[in-house]
Amino acid sequence: MKIFYKSGICVQNGKGTITLDPRKRVENGIVSHAHLDHLMPGALMSPQTRDIMGVRKNTTLARTLNFGEEANLNGFSIMLKDAGHVFGSAMIRVNDALYTGDFNPEGGLTCGKAVPEECEKLIVESTYGKPNLLLPSKEEALSDLLSWIEVETERNPVGVGAYEFGKAQEMIALMNEIDVPVVVTDKIADITDVYKKYGFELEYKRFSEMNEDDKKSPYALILPKRMLKRNSERAEELKELKRRGGRTCFVSGWCAFYPFTRMLDINAQFPISDHADFNGLLRFIEQCGPKEVYTCHGHAVELAEQVKTRLKIDASPLLKVC
Ligand SMILES: [Zn+2]
Repeated sequence: MKIFYKSGICVQNGKGTITLDPRKRVENGIVSHAHLDHLMPGALMSPQTRDIMGVRKNTTLARTLNFGEEANLNGFSIMLKDAGHVFGSAMIRVNDALYTGDFNPEGGLTCGKAVPEECEKLIVESTYGKPNLLLPSKEEALSDLLSWIEVETERNPVGVGAYEFGKAQEMIALMNEIDVPVVVTDKIADITDVYKKYGFELEYKRFSEMNEDDKKSPYALILPKRMLKRNSERAEELKELKRRGGRTCFVSGWCAFYPFTRMLDINAQFPISDHADFNGLLRFIEQCGPKEVYTCHGHAVELAEQVKTRLKIDASPLLKVC
């Protein structure tokens, strides 16, 4: 079995090819999850990913496969496993190879966990693939965020900036746990409505449906990062929040490494990630016990080097050749 990069991660045997997370429409593609840098209509994907695609790309053109069921695609045996990254995110088993997609062994409130499994070849994402890319414990970061929210919402509303799909719904679930009323933008509501269809009991109100009484009492507004850009016209949701003295924060793993309080119109930042950090990547690779490792997305070259020197496993980066 040959593995290389060509408009996606190609897996080839003597008879045919399949493409994992294709960057253009291909025959026999498989999509790992519904973040926009992975999503491509017309491929095989989990039903959850297809339904999120319906909201984000306005098409549900896909062949679906449930988690844990086996399918044949162009002569390959395929199975989707939980990746713990976002709702519907899958690791993809292809014969004796495993592709992690974006993954998180710690999981979240709105998705499962990535569990390592034995494989001959492991294709692993490298978002935090450099030794200095270490995240604080999730528990600690969550506890900091919750303390901040509790203090702020004693009097005023708060704005929580988060990626529209994945992190925003994690934040809704978290606010529900501490009984802070949640308000969201229409787009985030449309995406979260899909979670509800799959049985997640998430409570939120659309900003467009708030009445005067709702606006008077404290709430957490979940909004996309782009609304928190400095020097841009404030969205109506943010204007209302500021009018009532509300403060804002941004939640992302990258908050561990970049000064977003200077880069965005925010008061605080919290490093909470849906990816494995560098140590998490190495641990996961070791636990899968592969003979060969391929690294992709992010710091692929650096991670392949680290896998060779620290784990003594043959490793090579999958680099974009077109
Ligand atoms: Zn992702």
